[in-house]
Amino acid sequence: MNADDGPDTLGAQLAEVARLREAGDLAAARDAARAVFRAAAEAGADDIALEAGLACYALDLRLGDHVGMLDDGALLRPRLEASGRRRDLGDLLRRMVLSACELARFDLALALAHEACEAARDQADDRELALSLAALGACFERMGDSWQGERLMSEALGVAQRVDEPYVRLAVLNNLCAVCIGRFYRMRGVDDDDALAAVERAVVHAQAAQALLPLLPDPLFGVFVDGNLGEALLHAGRLDEAAPLLQDALARSRTHGFHAQTWRITCSIAELEIKQALPREALARLDAIAPAAIAARQHATLIRLHQTIYRAARDLGDTYRALRALEAHERLERERATRQLRAQSELFVTRAETERVRQEALAAREHAQRFRDEARRDALTGLANRRDLQEQLPVRLVAAAAQRRAVSLAVIDLDHFKRINDRYGHALGDRVLVAIARLLREGLRQNDVLARVGGEEFVVVLFDTPPALALEVLERLRHRIEDHAWQAKADGLAVTLSIGVAHAPGYELAPLFERADRALYRAKADGRNRLVVAEPAQA
Ligand code: GH3
Ligand code: MG
Ligand code: MG
Repeated sequence: MNADDGPDTLGAQLAEVARLREAGDLAAARDAARAVFRAAAEAGADDIALEAGLACYALDLRLGDHVGMLDDGALLRPRLEASGRRRDLGDLLRRMVLSACELARFDLALALAHEACEAARDQADDRELALSLAALGACFERMGDSWQGERLMSEALGVAQRVDEPYVRLAVLNNLCAVCIGRFYRMRGVDDDDALAAVERAVVHAQAAQALLPLLPDPLFGVFVDGNLGEALLHAGRLDEAAPLLQDALARSRTHGFHAQTWRITCSIAELEIKQALPREALARLDAIAPAAIAARQHATLIRLHQTIYRAARDLGDTYRALRALEAHERLERERATRQLRAQSELFVTRAETERVRQEALAAREHAQRFRDEARRDALTGLANRRDLQEQLPVRLVAAAAQRRAVSLAVIDLDHFKRINDRYGHALGDRVLVAIARLLREGLRQNDVLARVGGEEFVVVLFDTPPALALEVLERLRHRIEDHAWQAKADGLAVTLSIGVAHAPGYELAPLFERADRALYRAKADGRNRLVVAEPAQA
C-alpha cells in the first residue's frame, strides 16, 4: 500500500470532496471523488472506495452527467453487491436505468430495470419493487410507449401505497406525472383529447407529489416536482399558475446547479412564452442553453429542445431555423425509434430467454405429440384439427397474456367453395383443400399455429408478431392463394379466400375467435377475397 494513500489521507481527500460539494463546485467535487475512488480501490481501502463511489454517483446525478453516471455506476455496482447494501444497490441500478434512457441506451436500461425488479421480487421488498417498477415504466415511456409506461407506473403506485415512506410515493408520483407529460407530447396534434386528458392526470399526480415535499428536504425533489407541475399546468392551459412555478423552479435549479432540470424547465418557460406570443424571447432563452445542452448529448432533453426551438422559430417566421430544428428533432426521434426496436429485440434475448427456451421445448413436445396423436390431426390435409387447436391454444394464450405479447387470430374461409365442388367435383375440391393447406403452411413460420377447423375453414394464430406485421403476413397468404396457378388443376379454376382477424388484448380463445369470426362475416358481406380486422376487444 502506498503510504500517501493510507486511510487517513484518503479520509482527508474524502472530506475535501464534501467541502467542494458544499461550496457548490459540483464538477470539481465529482472529479475529486473519482480520484479518491481510484486511489482507495488501488490501496484496497474498500470502505473508502465505497464512500467515494457513492459520493461520485450522487454528484453525477446532480450534474445531470449521465455518461459519468453509467461509468461510475458500473464501477460502484460490484462494490455495493459485495457489501450487501441492497437498497443502495437498487438505488444505483435505477439511477443507471434513467441515465441509460437519457442516452437512449434502451438495451442497457431495460436490462438494468428488469434486474432491479427481479431482485425486489426475490426479496419481497415492496419499497424496492415500487421504485423498480417505476424505473421500468420510465424505460417504456422513454422508448415512446407511454401506454406501457403509464401501466407499469400505476402498478408501481399501487405498490408504493403499501410502503410507509414519503420518498417512495413521491418518486413514483413524479414518474407517473412525467409519463403523463410524455404521453401529452406524443399525442399532441394526433389525438388532442387524449393529450389533454393525459396532461390533466399529470397535474393531479404532480399535486399529490407536491403535498409530500415538506417531508423531503432535498432541493432536487422540489425542482423536479415543481418543474413537472409547471409543465403540466402549462399544457393544461393554466398559464397563470404555471408561470410563477416554473420561474421559481428555474431559479432554484440554477442555484443548485441541476443542469438537466435547468434545461428542461427552460424549455417549458420557452413554451410558455410561445403561448404568450413571445417567440423571440423564447428563442433567445433556448439559444442561451442550447450549446451546453447539446454538448451534454442527452437525448430526451435534446428532443425537447429542438421541438421547442422549432415551435418558436416557426412562430417567429424564421423558416430556415424552424426547418433545421425540425430536422434535428426528426433525426433524434428516428434514432430513438431505432434504438427502441433494437433494445426490445435484445431484451427478448436476455430477459425472456429462459422463458423462451421453456416455451420452445414445450412447443416442440406438443409438436411431436401432435404427430403421434392422429386424433388431433385432420386426415385430409395433415393440419391440426379443431380439437388440437382447442387443446394447445389456451395454454399458449395464457402465457402470452402474462407478458402481454402480441397475438393475432385469423379465421380463413374459402370463397364460394360450394360452387367449386359443384362445378369440378368433390375430389377436386379435396385437392384444392390439400393445396391450400400446403400454401398456408409454407407461408407461415414454424411457431405460427395453423389448423383446419371446418370443411373449408382454417385458423391461423400468430404469436409475437405486431398487429401491422400480422396483417401483412395474412395479406400475403391471401395473395398467395389468389395468385396460385389453379388453372393447372382444372380449366378456369380460381380460388380465393376471406379472412377475419382479431388482435389481442382479449387473450381468451372463445371471444378472440368470435371477434375474428365476425370480421370474417364482414369480409364475406363486403365482397369476399379480402381481409377484415375485428374491432378491438372491449376493455
Ligand atoms: P362462402 O364464400 O360464403 O364461404 O361460400 P361457400 O360456398 O364457401 O360456403 P358454404 O359454407 O355455403 O359452403 C362450404 C362448402 O364447402 C360446403 C361443402 O360443399 C364444401 N366442403 C366442406 N368440407 C369439404 C371437404 O372436406 N371437401 C370438399 N371437397 N368440400 C368440402
Ligand atoms: Mg364456411
Ligand atoms: Mg366458404
